[in-house]
Amino acid sequence: MRQVDLRSDTVTQPTPEMREAMYRAEVGDDVYGEDPTVRRLEEAAAAKLGFESALFVASGTMGNLVALLTQTGRGDEVFLEAESHIYYYEVGGIAALAGATPRLIPGDWGIITPESLRKYCRSTNIHYPNPALLCLENTHNRGGGAVYTPSQTAALMGCARELGLRVHIDGARIFNAAVACGCDVRELVRGADTVQFCLSKGLGAPMGSVVVGSRELIERARKWRKMVGGGFRQIGIMAAAGLVALEKTVNRLAEDHQLARQLAVGLAEIPFIRIQPERVQTNIIVFEVDEARISVESLLARLQEAGIKANSSGGPAVRFVTHKDIQAADIDYVLRTIAAIPVAE
Ligand SMILES: *Cc1c(COP(=O)(O)O)cnc(C)c1O
Repeated sequence: MRQVDLRSDTVTQPTPEMREAMYRAEVGDDVYGEDPTVRRLEEAAAAKLGFESALFVASGTMGNLVALLTQTGRGDEVFLEAESHIYYYEVGGIAALAGATPRLIPGDWGIITPESLRKYCRSTNIHYPNPALLCLENTHNRGGGAVYTPSQTAALMGCARELGLRVHIDGARIFNAAVACGCDVRELVRGADTVQFCLSKGLGAPMGSVVVGSRELIERARKWRKMVGGGFRQIGIMAAAGLVALEKTVNRLAEDHQLARQLAVGLAEIPFIRIQPERVQTNIIVFEVDEARISVESLLARLQEAGIKANSSGGPAVRFVTHKDIQAADIDYVLRTIAAIPVAE
């Protein structure tokens, strides 16, 4: 039976070229700064995003955490969109480990505006925590892969500066955003203090994220990474796959977006599904099921029986994610399977 895994782009298998690069990687002890392959990855990442320095970390969660630890102190206020990954899916590390106070700003499909940031960022007052950091998520995961354009980003960045805030970008899928906007990734991160992006999602590497920033910030982040147990030794084995991901797989993300669009347009034809296909900008599709006709649970079970894996996104919402291991024929198969599911009238 055909197997189609739409749960996430984290399920992507490393390419033969990645495995080959891993086998051949020159390595050393990275805690001593002696792994040449990690250095190459960090230099390539910093150059690609237009920053002075970079740090290879185990995961997106670790990248966001060290960025928070580096830029906030105990009790500081951090501004996040209400459904942001850092708040929703990172186990409360922002409070438990960084000791910061999250201030949640409701967005439109994850996208906030300078006006809403101004509204939520209060004036100085002895009763309030110190406003310290704005986190932007691009693309926005729970916002269905929504994109901040270069001009939206620049406007928010300007507003954050006026308010005296630093800016961290959770750019787990920043290259998807750049491909969707048809711009250089630097236009989406210019002016930020730190950016985190994932090698292990659409880019297909088996693990890892990179945090970029100024030399000074990254030196501090390196120490925090050590404290949270992220000081690796001959990790160039993994950085080698990350380098292939960064250099070879960015351009093909457009194919994932194309397939996501096709899937969304097909889903819109199905009577028990509510979706706005024009909202699908990248590789994430979030749609709602008419639960009077079929529950999310039974839909997912039916799909599973047909070899199709997907995740619920809370309430009546289901999420599909396209990636390099999904082909056009898989999309047809998914649409045919869903259309054939018997539901209540
Ligand atoms: C996946 C993701 C992360 C976390 O990455 P992990 O490598 O899974 O820890 C952070 N932010 C966003 C927006 C993500 O989608």
